[in-house]
Amino acid sequence: MLRIIFLGPPGAGKGTQAYFLCTHYEIPQISTGDMLRQAIAARSELGLAAQAVMTRGELVSDDIILRLVAERLQQEDCANGCLFDGFPRTIEQARGLQRLNIEIAVVVELQVARDVIVNRLSGRRVHEPSGRTYHVQFNPPKLAGVDDVTGELLTHRHDDREHTIRERLRVYEEQTMPLIDFYRKSSVPYLAVDGNASVEDIRNELETELQQVLN
Ligand code: ADP
Ligand code: ADP
Repeated sequence: MLRIIFLGPPGAGKGTQAYFLCTHYEIPQISTGDMLRQAIAARSELGLAAQAVMTRGELVSDDIILRLVAERLQQEDCANGCLFDGFPRTIEQARGLQRLNIEIAVVVELQVARDVIVNRLSGRRVHEPSGRTYHVQFNPPKLAGVDDVTGELLTHRHDDREHTIRERLRVYEEQTMPLIDFYRKSSVPYLAVDGNASVEDIRNELETELQQVLN
């Protein structure tokens, strides 16, 4: 069962690399951020509860997130594994996974410098229905402003503006960074990758190093 956790600050490139790995290993990407944004777009009860919190750059409650993930894992496409992108984000969420007896094959941490993050997030553009991400400068779509696959319009997330970016980084340092220690001290294999390189270089390094860890 290939279950991978992607750790790293907002803007580290988790979604970008998750897309490659999920295609390569044929496992689904479980992005709690994408799931929450879909709930907001559908105006569901969950979406209504999460919207204000997300706009402020804070975290949605562990309870809600754990229920969402537990439900998602029941679906058939998770039978051979999955890649968690942006989850867990707190120690309590990691413990919740353990309580559910969800075993993890490897934790991958993308390490990125703070000033790089701000540049990446402010230039990020997303195709909301699929979660595909682009960057106006570093990873532009073939045609400016539209998704390569569907031709639909890209958007600039409300929380990808400077003020909220700073708050999200603060929240990351306070609530998510402790997970680095948590997993390093656990028996789960841990892979730290330099996330400051180009999309292609990281992709190649990840594929090579994961192959070694998983063999
Ligand atoms: P990024 O990819 O930029 O790190 P995400 O799309 O993962 O951002 O998350 C966007 C927002 O959704 C977060 O700022 C937070 O409010 C909420 N969120 C996503 N995943 C979680 C989670 N596992 N726990 C709590 N809140 C979450
Ligand atoms: P995360 O899911 O960790 O929040 P994303 O994968 O959405 O991060 O990447 C954040 C932004 O940075 C996106 O606009 C993406 O196109 C861009 N990006 C991702 N990886 C790199 C990289 N290695 N070099 C430059 N830009 C990148």
